Amino acid sequence: MPEENVKVAVRVRPFNARETNRGAQLIISMGDKQTMIKDPENLTAEPKKFAFDYSYWSHDGYTENKDGYLSPKDLKYADQKKVFDDLGKGVINNAWKGYNCSLFAYGQTGSGKSYSMVGFGNNKGIVPLACEELFKGIEEKKKVADKDAEFQVTISMLEIYNEQIRDLLTTKAALKGGLKVRQNPSKGFYVESLTSAPVSSYAQIEGKINEGTRNRTIASTNMNATSSRAHTVVAINFVQKQKNDAGQNMTKTSIINLVDLAGSERADSTGASGDRLKEGSSINQSLSTLGNCIKALADQSAGKKKVMGKIPYRDSVLTKLLQNALGGNSKTVMIAALSPADINYQETLSTLRFADRAKTIKTQAVVNES
Ligand code: ADP
Ligand code: MG
Repeated sequence: MPEENVKVAVRVRPFNARETNRGAQLIISMGDKQTMIKDPENLTAEPKKFAFDYSYWSHDGYTENKDGYLSPKDLKYADQKKVFDDLGKGVINNAWKGYNCSLFAYGQTGSGKSYSMVGFGNNKGIVPLACEELFKGIEEKKKVADKDAEFQVTISMLEIYNEQIRDLLTTKAALKGGLKVRQNPSKGFYVESLTSAPVSSYAQIEGKINEGTRNRTIASTNMNATSSRAHTVVAINFVQKQKNDAGQNMTKTSIINLVDLAGSERADSTGASGDRLKEGSSINQSLSTLGNCIKALADQSAGKKKVMGKIPYRDSVLTKLLQNALGGNSKTVMIAALSPADINYQETLSTLRFADRAKTIKTQAVVNES
């Protein structure tokens, strides 16, 4: 089976007003594919260097900071369109070919995960832009496809909070009950009784995503706590039934998983203590298991035989659901969201290290065709 590395992008967000007001130091620099981070406590030390498939800059006019730390002059603010053109379009193209696709955003709270995935207002992120692209493609295909051709799209949306799964596309009463992850020899891990809503236009899928987003808020007692501690998964199932060139009926299926992860600061128990540790412990379970899986998979890719077959997917809800995305039948993209500011140095460095391991992971996507 053809193996392929997980594609990794890093995106640094602009300074926020608070950071600008207190004269925060820019500690990230980017070259074409190189990302560097400087230790604000040790400015004379060589910056740590990383290489990723894509790196997105957000600081127009920043060519040199106080320490003569250069950023290439031609780096421009990477807008939502640029990020979508590089990452999101490929997801939709692969879905048309019949591949499962996964795209997930990792990073500490406030680093820009939701900005990249969902976006705000007119600055639509990858999820709505990908949905637009999918339905645009379907409309075009319908014009040229045979008259019996069918294109079916369904959407599911769930939240993992404290290792409980909430269906975001169902009624309030049902939301209270936690759903169960089951395993099936052909499907692998799946969420039992999860709503799968058929949608036939961009307006309809947008409506469902808005409904799901509202349900997150309704279901939470504290919106801020939830948004940083919950993992949100949008799963789009795309089925195409068409005649091939030989006139035979064929069906291609693709599952597209789009995941906005909980804030990565929860993964690191050393940063939390006392009540905060207790509150966050379940979230730590999903995120720290994600870290463990990625570490084990990276070791496996590096040929350390000892860990073969011992990827701890079963240790958390998140990693069960992401098993294909991490080591199986999926083309996978990870976007690591970075804060630019000195104060977040440790978290940003740990995000870069996580991303650096993720890029060594290999998946084996196959065309789902029958
Ligand atoms: P997270 O989901 O990781 O907690 P958000 O996506 O909510 O973080 O981003 C935090 C803030 O930074 C938001 O106000 C968001 O609009 C802003 N932001 C993040 N990334 C960018 C970007 N690339 N360009 C402009 N603003 C951004
Ligand atoms: Mg967010």
